[in-house]
Amino acid sequence: MSAFLVDRESEGFSVAMQLEEKIGLFTSDTAMLELNNCRVPKANLLGQPGKGLRVAYSALLNGRIGIGAGCVGIIEDCLNSVTERSKSRVQHGKPIGKHQLIQRHLANITMNLEMARWPTYIAAAEKIKLDADPENLELRNKVDLQSAIAKRVASKLAYESADLAVQIFGGFGYSLLSPVARHLCDARVARIYEGTDEIMELKIASLVLGKDFEAYN
Ligand SMILES: Cc1cc2nc3c(=O)[nH]c(=O)nc-3n(C[C@H](O)[C@H](O)[C@H](O)COP(=O)(O)OP(=O)(O)OC[C@H]3O[C@@H](n4cnc5c(N)ncnc54)[C@H](O)[C@@H]3O)c2cc1C
Repeated sequence: MSAFLVDRESEGFSVAMQLEEKIGLFTSDTAMLELNNCRVPKANLLGQPGKGLRVAYSALLNGRIGIGAGCVGIIEDCLNSVTERSKSRVQHGKPIGKHQLIQRHLANITMNLEMARWPTYIAAAEKIKLDADPENLELRNKVDLQSAIAKRVASKLAYESADLAVQIFGGFGYSLLSPVARHLCDARVARIYEGTDEIMELKIASLVLGKDFEAYN
């Protein structure tokens, strides 16, 4: 299997379906692409011939770590937004940050940030080692496991944190004019693309149990 760059003007290339009216990621287009008897010049080969799977695989590992990092950013921005809001929004005679249950939400977002950050750092550090030693199968499996854990954990916590942040913002949090509502919409897709929650869990289990136990093929 080899990887190629495909020019969208190539004969046989088409956009089969445009994903319309998405609930988040408003600044990026999403479409299903179809390649039907599409001829690609040799010069468009990406990497070495026969090593395409490695290109795809490496892109997935980087992608999962990147999504983990993006989710850490979402949690961090939720925390900044709710900290500011908790101090400035006054209800029942005091800033909402002085209400104990708001403090609990804020504490949970703070803990989520730490819980999402570390698996993502570990996966990134292991991937740097793998890039320097790409034939090391043991290391590859380790990065596979760590990046699946990072993505699964960080996307779950980002979604939960954005939900808590919307709660702290109250009615305004339900509007896309608030930063936290946009985070809620954007975080949701992190549990779908580059490997769904379910596939990440099956991957984690099979990497622990061994290849004979792969349940997602
Ligand atoms: C905004 C957006 C951007 C995207 N960008 C890209 C991109 O840049 N490149 C790209 O290649 N793709 C991209 N995707 C596609 C994305 O990776 C897929 O949507 C995702 O992998 C799920 O595949 P699916 O939609 O076909 O769902 P399905 O495969 O139909 O899955 C439906 C449900 O069944 C579960 N399921 C499926 N198979 C199994 C199994 N074997 N065991 C257990 N559960 C299973 C899934 O986890 C899910 O819950 C994007 C999607 C979105 C929404």
